[in-house]
Amino acid sequence: MLILGIETSCDETAAAIVDSARPAGARVLADVVLSQLDEHRPYGGVVPEIAARAHIDHLDRLIAQAMDEAGLTFADLDAVAATAGPGLIGGVIVGLMTAKAIAAAAGKPLVAVNHLEGHALTARLTGDIAFPYLLLLVSGGHSQILVVEGVGRYRRLGTTIDDAIGEAFDKSAKMLGLGYPGGPALEAMARQGDPGRYDLPRPMLGRDGADFSFSGLKTAVRQTIERLGEALDEQARRDICAAFQVAVGDVVADRLGNAIRTVARPADGRRPTLVVAGGVAANGYLRQRLADLAGAEDYELAIPPQRLCTDNGAMIAWAGAERLAAGLTDPLDYPARARWPLDPEAEPRPFAGV
Ligand code: ATP
Ligand code: MG
Ligand code: FE
Repeated sequence: MLILGIETSCDETAAAIVDSARPAGARVLADVVLSQLDEHRPYGGVVPEIAARAHIDHLDRLIAQAMDEAGLTFADLDAVAATAGPGLIGGVIVGLMTAKAIAAAAGKPLVAVNHLEGHALTARLTGDIAFPYLLLLVSGGHSQILVVEGVGRYRRLGTTIDDAIGEAFDKSAKMLGLGYPGGPALEAMARQGDPGRYDLPRPMLGRDGADFSFSGLKTAVRQTIERLGEALDEQARRDICAAFQVAVGDVVADRLGNAIRTVARPADGRRPTLVVAGGVAANGYLRQRLADLAGAEDYELAIPPQRLCTDNGAMIAWAGAERLAAGLTDPLDYPARARWPLDPEAEPRPFAGV
């Protein structure tokens, strides 16, 4: 199956083509990502109106480039998949409308993909991972622990009660003058920092359940910066970054440990799998902490390659392929949605698959 995937929910304009032919395994035939970092950098964060306009300016060209690289025409496709939410609504509409136009013109089915389902299923594009698996989804807008039971079947064990984890990275980095986006910059600084010099809180640590909270940590970073005043030199910045990362690592390991204790291990004695997805999964320190945790809990750890952890079109094409294989396609009047939780109890899909 040849699927075109379109992603425009935030500040990456992306188009990719995935060949989901079995049993040869899935292949990414083209994967084009245009990051709008330069457009948003002067504002220190993503400006929705600028993002939507940039998607309009670049998307058609990126799709043409992806089709070209794959050596395909629209007539060759089996389906067109696009992010239909959650995200910045202007951008989501640009991508979804483009997908609808291609689907209508070429007479192909449309698959409306939940962006989070894209992150959640990506590990199956790059690895042989069977359902069910435990998922830690850590991105710019989300921090969740879910059991992925199957395509479209998610059970949420925990979520953040305030800021998302990537948001905590980005806001802390901004306060430290590290620019935008903050996550990678904060990680680089932390590598040369002493995590023991400043004491930062570990919100929710030791509490029941698997929910997260990061706003207290962000506030503590701000207070530490204010207290230091003029003494906030380069080394102090590095030390705050290192302390921040360790605090995040402690919290994530604690929450995941609780989640792991609530899910049953496979009856056949197979090692269960922990999948990590979303942009923050690119963080090397966090990866190490998760590898340690997986080892201690006798879990298999699966983290997609870095390029597929941050937003991209291949994850949307792949989620589209999985939905198509399950017989789930969507009508051409499928709505774009700013908010769209993964677990159906929180909010059902607007239409059942047809
Ligand atoms: P969502 O998927 O929740 O809608 P998003 O699409 O903006 O949000 P992603 O693109 O998946 O999020 O991830 C972006 C986030 O990942 C940003 O917050 C960024 O700072 C963070 N990030 C990227 N690399 C790193 C890193 N090395 N360390 C920490 N955070 C990182
Ligand atoms: Mg992004
Ligand atoms: Fe994302």
